[in-house]
Amino acid sequence: MSARLIDGKAFAEALRRKIGTYAQEFEAAAGRKAGLAVVLVGEDPASEVYIRSKGQAMVAAGMDSFEYRLTAEAGEAALLAKVEQLNADPRVDGILVQLPLPEGFDEDRVISTIDPDKDVDGFHIVNAGRLAVGEKGIVPCTPLGCMALLKDCCGDLAGLEAVVIGRSNIVGRPMAQLLTQADATVTVAHSRTKNLAEVVRRADIVVAAAGQAELVKGEWIKPGAVVIDVGINRVTLPDGSARLTGDVDFAAAREVAGAITPVPGGVGPMTIAMLLRNTLVSACHREGIPIDEDAL
Ligand code: NDP
Repeated sequence: MSARLIDGKAFAEALRRKIGTYAQEFEAAAGRKAGLAVVLVGEDPASEVYIRSKGQAMVAAGMDSFEYRLTAEAGEAALLAKVEQLNADPRVDGILVQLPLPEGFDEDRVISTIDPDKDVDGFHIVNAGRLAVGEKGIVPCTPLGCMALLKDCCGDLAGLEAVVIGRSNIVGRPMAQLLTQADATVTVAHSRTKNLAEVVRRADIVVAAAGQAELVKGEWIKPGAVVIDVGINRVTLPDGSARLTGDVDFAAAREVAGAITPVPGGVGPMTIAMLLRNTLVSACHREGIPIDEDAL
């Protein structure tokens, strides 16, 4: 039987519309729009595409998008000065420094310079710490998006066996913490995990975030499991053309799983929607305007 497709694109569009309505209410109450500042250092073409789509999504949702570009030659001191300036800018509710930074920049130092209350990526150690101890804070966008899809798909996750493949600070680790908070029984797998197939086989929920094309095979999936594929891998086909694929062998897994996200069109659109959400929530907190965070 073929699994239900989890349509992240449609889910994200609906969420963005809802955020747009909340953003209007924010503007009416605060007398200004919620604003995100995006800083790009250097000329990475993929980063250019990302920041353009983030900016367009912000504006479409009725929020302000401020874009700043620095050359790699300007150096880390100039970037840190820009971040400090944005920390103090009252129009700016969220600051996003597009990663990866060029060689020679210390990403940890840059992230730790962002005001934790404007850290809408949720990468600052203060926000990572808040998540680790179960306090309210800003949660990284991709795992937040995965959780929204899972809750919509499965409802209550209590007692379910979840396996997260990957333990990065951006995806795997916060994902495992969110699943634990939702009372799932969580296993974190990584590159040193022995017999990944066996680990995945016991999971009711599989979140694959390893960055390895089609690492997870169809026969590893427990029948009826929910599969969230975070991976984005560009593979070159024998004819020289390129296509995007996830960390899961989609065609095979689809025959066994109960529900599965496609790549593209699954987790990716949720990441941007959650960036809008985090910016709006941060704006409301900064202005003392109540917002029903659980509704977003
Ligand atoms: P990282 O490279 O930072 O982390 C990868 C993790 O996967 C590591 O913990 C690594 O283990 C683990 N891993 C690597 N190979 C294997 C393997 N063979 N078996 C088991 N575990 C393995 O990547 P990110 O977390 O940043 O991203 C993961 C994927 O998600 C990438 O494809 C990325 O493009 C995608 N992504 C997608 C987003 C979206 O919006 N859809 C957003 C962010 C990322 P170890 O710790 O031992 O090295």
